[in-house]
Amino acid sequence: MARKTILVCDKCSSEVPEGRGAVMRLNYTDARRGSKQADLCDDCAGGMPGRAVARRGRRPKSVA
Ligand SMILES: [Zn+2]
Repeated sequence: MARKTILVCDKCSSEVPEGRGAVMRLNYTDARRGSKQADLCDDCAGGMPGRAVARRGRRPKSVA
């Protein structure tokens, strides 16, 4: 029997449908504190602080 993993939002506890949601990963500057992560539904992910991060590979325009 295939076990289906149901993802639940760590913030609002609602079920996150497959293919949706986000994972928020938090890395402490103090490496000894390690890191933590949370599964979020789309709604909660959108309400989280943070900024869009450019994908790796290309540098943003350099400031002259
Ligand atoms: Zn949520």
